[in-house]
This record gives sequence, C-alpha cells and structure tokens, in this order.
Amino acid sequence: MGGEATLMQIADEVRGCTRCALARTRTHAVPGEGNVLSDVLLVGEGPGAREDATGRPFVGPAGQLLDELLRAVGWNREDVFITNVVKCRPPANRDPEPAEAAACAGYLDRQERALEPAVVVTLGRHSLQRYLPGARIGAVHGQLRRSFSGQHVFPMYHPAAALHQASLRETLFRDVRALPAALLAARDALGAEGPITAAPERATDEVDSEQMTLF
Ligand code: URA
Ligand code: SF4
Repeated sequence: MGGEATLMQIADEVRGCTRCALARTRTHAVPGEGNVLSDVLLVGEGPGAREDATGRPFVGPAGQLLDELLRAVGWNREDVFITNVVKCRPPANRDPEPAEAAACAGYLDRQERALEPAVVVTLGRHSLQRYLPGARIGAVHGQLRRSFSGQHVFPMYHPAAALHQASLRETLFRDVRALPAALLAARDALGAEGPITAAPERATDEVDSEQMTLF
C-alpha cells in the first residue's frame, strides 16, 4: 500500500475505533489530515469541541492560531500533516489519560511510518511526552531534538495555551520562525545518515528558507 492508501485505511479504522472509553462520548473521531507527502508532521493533544463536531483537527480557536503560525513562515495547512495523540475528544477537554493515549498510540505509530516525516512538531506537553519522555517544555521549546528512536522532534507550546496566557503568543511565533531551519537541519542529518525516514530525492531537494518545499 502507498502512503496515501495506508493513511486512508488508518483513518477508516480510527473512525470505527472502540479501543478506549473516549469512543463512547465522541461525536466524530478525528484521524488527522494534510499533505501525505509532507516532511512535517504536527501532533497536538486531542480534539476539542469543534474538532469533535467536524471530524477535522485544529479547526477551533487554537486551530486559527496554528494557521497564523504556519503563515508566519509562508506555510499553510495543506503543506503539513496534522494529527493528535488521541483521536477522540476527552470530555470537557480534560487531559487524555495515560491508558487512552496508550490505546491510541498504534494509530500514530502507523501514521508516522506512512508519512516518514523529517520533523515531528509536538504541540503541548502530551505530545512532547510521547517523543521526549521527561523533557520539560520550558527547556526544550523551539529547539530541534532527537527522540530515543532517532526521530527529529521540534517541541512547541500548545497554541491553546497562548489563548489563555498572552505572553506565550510571542514565544510561539519566535519558535515557529526557527522551524524552517530546523527542518533543513533534520533533512541534512537524514541525508548524511542515509534514507532512514526521508526519501533520497527529498534529501537533495533544492530549498531556500523563503519558499521552502515541504515535500
Ligand atoms: N487542540 C488539539 O490538541 N488538537 C486539536 O485538534 C484541536 C485543539
Ligand atoms: Fe480509539 Fe483512539 Fe478514539 Fe480511543 S481515542 S476510541 S483508541 S481512536
């Protein structure tokens, strides 16, 4: 199966999934969406009210800020792939429980294998914990890191946090402006190491920092 067919298959499974208790309270599961050829995978926490109502990731107030952040570096949602640690809305937007994240993890594992992103951008603590367990967001945000399994990870605060705490807005914009260079660095490292997660032709893409091709 090609990447796109695999991602559609995963999305179908997610929409019918009953592996954890969140299945009982969701309206729509939210598998994720975006460009299946992108080198950038954004991983949030879990669907909110508007995501649950529509079945699409980051379409509420946090999503509007995410769109602004992407625009700040000349990208938009069609350039990246966006999903969440848990695919169904936790009631009243509570934090996902560890058992729920564990039940759902296999879907994100498979999405990663199908997408082979050069960089995973974590949005918020829950996503960060999956890739860099024990890392503190205050210490690592805006910096390219590697997970134990070798993935390049770029941690950011969750856009929703900036809706409650205005000072984080500036931090989010500063961090996202460092993302294109982090992507280049990750691609360089992958090129040097051989095609572990990036297709060889991607590693040799001609890119400049103004209009960078993401796939
Ligand atoms: N917050 C998230 O973490 N994910 C969404 O999809 C929307 C809001
Ligand atoms: Fe299945 Fe994940 Fe939804 Fe739980 S959150 S029901 S594991 S898709």
